Amino acid sequence: MGSEIPQVHIFFFPIMAQGHVIPTVDMAKLFATRGVKTTIITTPVNASFFSKTVQRSKESGLDIDVKILKYSTEEAGLPEGCENADLLPTSRDEPKDIVSKFFKAKVILQEPLERLLQECKPDCLVAHMFFPWATDAADKFGIPRLVFYGVNVFSTCVMECMTLYEPHKQVESEFEQFVVPNLPGDIKLSKKQLPDYVKESVETEFTKMLKASKESELRSYGVIFNSFYELEDMYADYYKNVLGRKAWHIGPVSLCNRAIEDKAERGKKSTVDEQECSKWLDSKKPNSVVYVCFGSMTNFRSAQLKEIAMGLETSGQEFIWVVRKEKSNGGEEDWLPEGFEKRMEGKGLIIRGWAPQILILDHEAVGGFVTHCGWNSSLEGISAGVPMVTWPVSAEQFYNEKLVTQILKIGVPVGVQEWVSTVGDFVKREAIEKAVKKIMNGKTAEELRSKAKALAEMAKRAVAKGGSSYSELSALIEELKLRRH
Ligand code: UDP
Repeated sequence: MGSEIPQVHIFFFPIMAQGHVIPTVDMAKLFATRGVKTTIITTPVNASFFSKTVQRSKESGLDIDVKILKYSTEEAGLPEGCENADLLPTSRDEPKDIVSKFFKAKVILQEPLERLLQECKPDCLVAHMFFPWATDAADKFGIPRLVFYGVNVFSTCVMECMTLYEPHKQVESEFEQFVVPNLPGDIKLSKKQLPDYVKESVETEFTKMLKASKESELRSYGVIFNSFYELEDMYADYYKNVLGRKAWHIGPVSLCNRAIEDKAERGKKSTVDEQECSKWLDSKKPNSVVYVCFGSMTNFRSAQLKEIAMGLETSGQEFIWVVRKEKSNGGEEDWLPEGFEKRMEGKGLIIRGWAPQILILDHEAVGGFVTHCGWNSSLEGISAGVPMVTWPVSAEQFYNEKLVTQILKIGVPVGVQEWVSTVGDFVKREAIEKAVKKIMNGKTAEELRSKAKALAEMAKRAVAKGGSSYSELSALIEELKLRRH
């Protein structure tokens, strides 16, 4: 039979960081379940992270493919194989300019991407904001470019207002609070909580890139958000009506993962056996375990890790704690308090490396989440209906903290005061203990949990047939179809 209108074909082009690659792969799967032909464009190392996921999706009948761009880390001046932000040497070991090299290196991808666009002529290119040249590249071939930030609408609005009104330039001290002007919700921040690139008065490679990204976004076809309308309706309306932007909210995209294998292997292969992990959780009571994880980039110093261990122990709470540091060859771990693992046997599980996050969050034994407020993690927490301890570190995470604690009211802040890229501000064990107890036990926990559960239901409804995200996705696909004629 076959439909009369040929299938819509979309290219997805994420930047090389787990927090972007993971939702992009989900997004490509999501579009494919709606009859779109999807192609993920990436570099060899990144492709290896999700090749199994794509293979499984193909086997289940989805039209999803991967095209690999040749990428020379040597040409970019980066260490061999360093194709993803989470593989970058930590800022303590290497000069800061390695990060800017990483950002510059993305330009190397422009030419090979353009060749692919010319060859395949997709109907749309969805590219991350950090590829400022993507709008022009797509334009050369008459292809619309959509921007995918990987952040939520609320934080995008905060960022816009900060750029427009620069309230941080009017305060007298670093810790003085100011209200984000002209934004609903009375959002208070301090200069200390702002990213370096917002505060910096001199132009850097990064701020130049951000400026170019903004310009290219304004000339793009619109923005896709991994969020759902009801979650941040006030800000979705503000973005559209006050800031005058075009956007589609199609998330939470992680909810497209229904099979255990899909939940268990996102981003990287887990360093813990998924079945063991599930078995461990099966032995626990509902809502009794707190899950502690700080995403793919945070690299806490040993003193902070030790403090987390002590805080968890004194909270008396059962826990799963993901520590990115893997055991060194000698086996010694300077961050682990003496006898900690022995004392915590059966009570706490430390995952060194990579955890099957949504598999854990979705388990009924998990009753709370200590998070760095990366948007994917926050939204995964919301989708699982768990209250959160918010512990922002860098990027736009301080804005997300406000959304979770002040707007959605499903979390309590651990009390971080300062934005410090990857290593974070120091938090004492007492603060950790107090915040964990608050989201796990007692009246506050009950109230937070009931709100969180309601939001999780809302999220599921949004992606189900007829829900807001489902309908916005249908509208986008229809628009792309019509555009062709
Ligand atoms: N993640 C995971 N296992 C880990 C750490 C992270 O599966 O051990 C996933 C997590 O589910 C999320 C992503 O990695 O989808 C992290 O994205 P987020 O925006 O939360 O933070 P980032 O890593 O970008 O700081």
